[in-house]
Amino acid sequence: MALPTKLLIDGNLIDGAGVLSVVDPSTGAPFIEVPRGSQGEMEAAIAAAKRAQPGWAATPLVERHARLERFADAVHQNADELARTLVMEQGKPLGEARTEIAHAEFFLRHFAAADLPAAVVQDDAALRVEVHHRALGVVAGITPWNFPVLIACYKLGPSLLLGNSFILKPAPTTPVTSLMLGALARDIFPAGVVNVVTDANDLGALLTAHPDVAKISFTGSTPTGRRVMASAASTLKRITLELGGNDAAIVLDDVDVAAAAPKIFAGAFLNAGQVCIAIKRLYVHDRIYDALCSALVAQAGTTVLGNGLDGGTSMGPVQNAAQYAKARHLLDVAEADGKIVAGGIEARNGGYFVRPTIVRDIADGSALVDDEQFAPILPVVRFDDVDAVVRRTNASPYGLGGSVWSDDLDRAYALAQRIDSGTVWINHHLHFGPHIPFSGAKQSGYGVEFSEAGLAEFGQTHVISIAK
Ligand code: ADP
Repeated sequence: MALPTKLLIDGNLIDGAGVLSVVDPSTGAPFIEVPRGSQGEMEAAIAAAKRAQPGWAATPLVERHARLERFADAVHQNADELARTLVMEQGKPLGEARTEIAHAEFFLRHFAAADLPAAVVQDDAALRVEVHHRALGVVAGITPWNFPVLIACYKLGPSLLLGNSFILKPAPTTPVTSLMLGALARDIFPAGVVNVVTDANDLGALLTAHPDVAKISFTGSTPTGRRVMASAASTLKRITLELGGNDAAIVLDDVDVAAAAPKIFAGAFLNAGQVCIAIKRLYVHDRIYDALCSALVAQAGTTVLGNGLDGGTSMGPVQNAAQYAKARHLLDVAEADGKIVAGGIEARNGGYFVRPTIVRDIADGSALVDDEQFAPILPVVRFDDVDAVVRRTNASPYGLGGSVWSDDLDRAYALAQRIDSGTVWINHHLHFGPHIPFSGAKQSGYGVEFSEAGLAEFGQTHVISIAK
């Protein structure tokens, strides 16, 4: 590999105290060894970030913009290597990997042009009151293994824009592209402003409890999110949590099944179903239930499962051994609680392959419907009473996204207003952008990402009130 894969601490690329063996999920075998950070190295990264932060915050905005733009350029110039490495460590098809890198660049360019200017909220004979947004200090971005490049970049961008320094801690099963991002960042940002330290799932708690870390921007599972929140309480750290979801898609009886099926399929099976905002349970009206199930089965039949680097592959393996074991368990659940009409395990080459699986004649109360599967196994649940399906949708402790599908926009809109989630899409699913607030309702998250509201969470509101 041309790009270095070393830890980045205080502007230095270092080997680290230990070694992480990174597995290619399409073979189940290690393909590279990279440094594993130690507690001392994480402490050193925090200290470096703390030292570097005031200077970075004092750097004029135009300069911070310019460096973020250069970082976006570097991601662009190295897109091919990043995408190919992403396939090897994460499993997704090369086309999806390229899209992820392009999105990362797009988000970085958005932040490289964004601003959160001071506002004057009162200016009269008595007072002038200004609201500014100051840097918080050291921000730690803790990222998961499903979109390691995009998520790292959309945490790094707003952190640095607001004048914070940044420590990236990737998931242990997908550290390689994060280390490559560190190598790119080293040549662009002052020493200590960006640091990248890997772990074996053992250093996150150090970050969340550390008094010199001002904010945690976390994306991961809800159970780990709870631990982050509890740990952050000791120092009243700022936290933004983007957690699990069990997004329902509700398909009304008036949809054009042939037109909707490929979109619904894509919304459920992108990245082998390992997307926080994927369709996780599909509620389909009785009148079109059989037709939509058949259309999804046909769609599953066109999927080319394989190594993401092979041309033509449209779905890769699930990302890691734990997820594969979970998927195998959920297939047993599917068999017991419903009827598998497409999919199942594909034993091949030692890889973690699960075919896109459609499960029909299953109901709420099954773990496959009630819990987040995070795997390419979609339960299709029949309904005929819209009010009941809204109740079932909203009964979940999760509330990340959701969608309503109907050819009657008024009907769909009225239904969308009743869904308890941070986002509801109508006739599509899985759309987000840096200008759109993204926030999980209930136990799907805490705080907001993206948009002005999301940017503000990377700063400290600072009021200057002047008596006249
Ligand atoms: P999964 O359960 O699929 O491994 P997690 O939500 O646990 O996903 O992981 C998301 C990220 O959180 C990873 O970078 C992981 O290393 C990190 N992490 C795991 N445990 C903790 C913790 N106690 N505190 C902070 N981060 C953690």
